[in-house]
Amino acid sequence: LFGNEEHKIVMVGLDNAGKTTILYQFLMNEVVHTSPTIGSNVEEVVWKNIHFIMWDLGGQQSLRAAWSTYYTNTEFIIMVIDSTDRERLTTIRDELYSMLNHEELSKANVLVYANKQDLKGSMSAAEISRQLDLTSIKKHQWHIQSCCALTGEGLYQGLEWIVGRLK
Ligand code: GDP
Repeated sequence: LFGNEEHKIVMVGLDNAGKTTILYQFLMNEVVHTSPTIGSNVEEVVWKNIHFIMWDLGGQQSLRAAWSTYYTNTEFIIMVIDSTDRERLTTIRDELYSMLNHEELSKANVLVYANKQDLKGSMSAAEISRQLDLTSIKKHQWHIQSCCALTGEGLYQGLEWIVGRLK
């Protein structure tokens, strides 16, 4: 799927967004090798040749400066959103733009998962895209994919978008 090259994907989102669930859907039935926690709320999982670095954007502002040490050579940012969490969408937006402005991420592409589409009252991908003002992103390729991490629906379409952009 990903050839022999090594790739690095940083997966972020607020707590409870569905990051762990998504990661485990990808890794199901695969032999996974988890590094011991490399930071207090940062995890690294290696699957095939992909290094997933994952952390929560919520809380602990003080740790954020340290996260940028994991940005080097990141090709993709996966931002996972709980589509029912309207209140914290502005927090997500701020975090997204602050990441995109980071020099080490200047070449990174962004996949946004609009997760929890099975829940009543969830915002559509179009609505999230509007709230995050994704069309204003010109220097990065981006894609928004609606999904349900519990069933896995939509997850592979998102991965296919990534695969199509691997160099
Ligand atoms: P994380 O904090 O971002 O790693 O989030 P988790 O993967 O731990 O998920 C938080 C909670 O949301 C868990 O109870 C999951 O079972 C639930 N969850 C994750 N994805 C979905 C989804 O697509 N639909 C629903 N209904 N629940 C989900």
